[in-house]
Amino acid sequence: MRSTDVDVLIAGGGLAAQRCCETLRRLGFDGRIAMLCEEPRAPYDRPPLSKGVLTDPDEPRELSFRPAAWYEENDVELLLGVTARGLDATARVVTVTDSRSNGDDARHEQTLRYRQLVIATGSRPRQLPGVSCGGPIHQLRTYTDALALRAALRQGNGRLVVLGAGLVGMEVASAARGLGLDVTMIEAAPTPLARALPATLGHWIAGLHHRYGVDMRLSTTVERIGVRGDTATLTLSDGSELNADTVLVAAGTVAATEWLAASGIAPGPIPTDRSGRTELPFVYAAGDAACFPDPYLGEPVPTQHWEAAVRQGTAVARAIVGLDPAEPVPAMFWSDQHGQRIQLVGHAPAQCDIELDGEEALGEPFVAWIKCDGRPAAALLVNRPDVLPQARRWIAGAFQHPDQTPVSVIHQNPTTESR
Ligand code: FAD
Repeated sequence: MRSTDVDVLIAGGGLAAQRCCETLRRLGFDGRIAMLCEEPRAPYDRPPLSKGVLTDPDEPRELSFRPAAWYEENDVELLLGVTARGLDATARVVTVTDSRSNGDDARHEQTLRYRQLVIATGSRPRQLPGVSCGGPIHQLRTYTDALALRAALRQGNGRLVVLGAGLVGMEVASAARGLGLDVTMIEAAPTPLARALPATLGHWIAGLHHRYGVDMRLSTTVERIGVRGDTATLTLSDGSELNADTVLVAAGTVAATEWLAASGIAPGPIPTDRSGRTELPFVYAAGDAACFPDPYLGEPVPTQHWEAAVRQGTAVARAIVGLDPAEPVPAMFWSDQHGQRIQLVGHAPAQCDIELDGEEALGEPFVAWIKCDGRPAAALLVNRPDVLPQARRWIAGAFQHPDQTPVSVIHQNPTTESR
């Protein structure tokens, strides 16, 4: 570490952090930038972790956004293995520990002073009470998690149980079926992605998994998990028991903001304005750790998807150099399952009208146009990436003046789906 005074300190070393520092340099910002990366590697891309990293026969490729030389050339100081532990926003100081130092963490605490702080610590898998990872039980967030899961799936351990039919859970189920495993998925809600998709479309996704041989148990919960040796035994709410060689806990995510507990920032994704400014002076947030206002919903929405992290990291960099954020566009996430590219644009309310364009059959591309009270709200695109610009225009056109109200109080949007 060069010195303890940093112009822009980015806590977290993922996608939002990367986009923020790249944009700062592109816009000519020449101050000192340092990035705290808890993991021992430079920022990398996560979507392949639940897809190609599991299925490719070759050793997983490098997923870093930039080669090491990029950080040197752009004078971005990567502090690998360094974790943000606390924030004093009055003194403008972040306390950190360095996992590379030996001995007691507390003795190796250091403080870094910042002029501007960007919180981009992302999110973590939600823990289930009484279930800890280890042995046959996995979670999936990091490259290390993905390598461990890949090893378990590829060593021919035949039975995978996925807890949670969210996006990551369904992608892993799809990858595991491709590898020939028996896959059972347990989901408490009556349809997959119940918070993001109306029931009719959730049923389509359940049908897709069914056709590819996933045993999807909906409206079902796990009462108990016992581990003996390499095998887990799950007792389900319907009284049945399942044995599994590998269990993936994929029950959604929580914002990785617990380290801010003493700073006055409430737990959960951090409310911001459209530029990523939080309530604390000189403190911004972006990506999965943030909750930006959605101009099309007129309320703050924690998004936890790739494109939002890109846009928000960019918006924060623009704000730091005194620029407004770019024009808003309707939110989008994608997911790859059983060879289908699935994209949701906008936010689909539970009560809505759906108009189908296409076959809605396995392997056939289709678009579901989703309206709420007669107004375009969202579109589900299956194998139709070419329709994305049109879908965005369709939704945006319904809002002549997207609401640009700054955030007041965060409240959980029922239509978002965390991974
Ligand atoms: P992250 O990328 O999670 O980066 C945060 C970083 O901060 C991490 O490296 C973390 O180790 C570090 N960190 C955490 N706490 C601290 C701390 N206290 N101090 C220092 N560092 C810390 N989105 C899509 O739209 N489509 C997809 O297909 C898709 N697939 C995905 C598959 C997987 C397996 C996962 C996990 C996510 C996927 N996503 C997908 C979501 C997308 O990758 C995330 O929304 C995006 O990575 C969020 O970026 P971020 O920078 O906010 O957080």
